[in-house]
Amino acid sequence: MMNFNTNPEPIINTRLDEMLKSTLPALGIDLGGTKIGACLVSNNRLINEPKQYKTPKGSDNILEQLYKIIEEYKVDNLMAGVGIATAGIVDTASGSVIDSTFNLTGWAGTNIKNYLESKTMLPIYVENDGNAAAYGEFKAKGSIDNLNTIVITLGTGIGGGIILNGNIFHGSNFAAGEVGHLKINFDNKRLCTCGHFDCWEAYGSGPGLVQTTKELLNEITASQSVLYANKNDLTTTHIIKAFENNDLIAKRAFELWHHHLSVGLVTIAQILNPKTFIISGGMSNFVNYPLLKEMVIDKALATVSRDLEIHQSGLGIHAGIIGAGQIALDTILAKS
Ligand SMILES: [Zn+2]
Repeated sequence: MMNFNTNPEPIINTRLDEMLKSTLPALGIDLGGTKIGACLVSNNRLINEPKQYKTPKGSDNILEQLYKIIEEYKVDNLMAGVGIATAGIVDTASGSVIDSTFNLTGWAGTNIKNYLESKTMLPIYVENDGNAAAYGEFKAKGSIDNLNTIVITLGTGIGGGIILNGNIFHGSNFAAGEVGHLKINFDNKRLCTCGHFDCWEAYGSGPGLVQTTKELLNEITASQSVLYANKNDLTTTHIIKAFENNDLIAKRAFELWHHHLSVGLVTIAQILNPKTFIISGGMSNFVNYPLLKEMVIDKALATVSRDLEIHQSGLGIHAGIIGAGQIALDTILAKS
């Protein structure tokens, strides 16, 4: 009598399974402090219009919202799996958040993977948002020349993601790429959001630019800059507007901001010798890329800066969704 149990997975089904896994899209989700973005991803790109949802308060409510989003996409789509990019330090092996940011209080200690896999029956992959964005940028570029790519996100803070030899570099405790907390000064001059002094993001972020401008305004009289009137409620918008109107203090603040940015980039470049820096985030729109590159070349060893590219992100806010979805697809494919 034939024993059907000796070959429980017929070859034809295994091939079909592999074929499906390599052609199905994944759902990419980017979880931020205020918004959640989601879209189907295939071949390193979005395959329909991304959707946006509000981030609820509290870890239980966030998990429930993520579950609802996945179920919503499941109604009309076959998916190979789900990739989730989240703020905070992520243990990618267990799919849990080790450390959170002030944007997502109570999120640390949450095992996203276990909860969502048991409820959705889909494979779930979780990654830090900076790392996911870096992977998305690297894969979308699709070039073998960019196997060493570093993505720097400039906004209210500075985030980062490191791609080395085509893979995300996680470090010993999954905390690699937290470049915003590089030290660029020794004078205990500016307090960072992390509680330490003189981190890169205290100078190179939007609030860092504001602080630099305030310090310049303390040295002058009211007639020397239009920004003087806004000294106490100064924003990046004021500074950008004044810069466009050739205000000397705004111009000097922007020059110093580029100098601060270049110091951080040089530090990273000297250690990792990347081919490409991709700059993303809201403040990336105000970077003078030729000037920044010139400043980096001036400070770095010639061999390190030779052929180094520094340019703005081509994917913008969608890098995290694409990266998260593509991480799910590539991990599933590698396992099959
Ligand atoms: Zn810091």
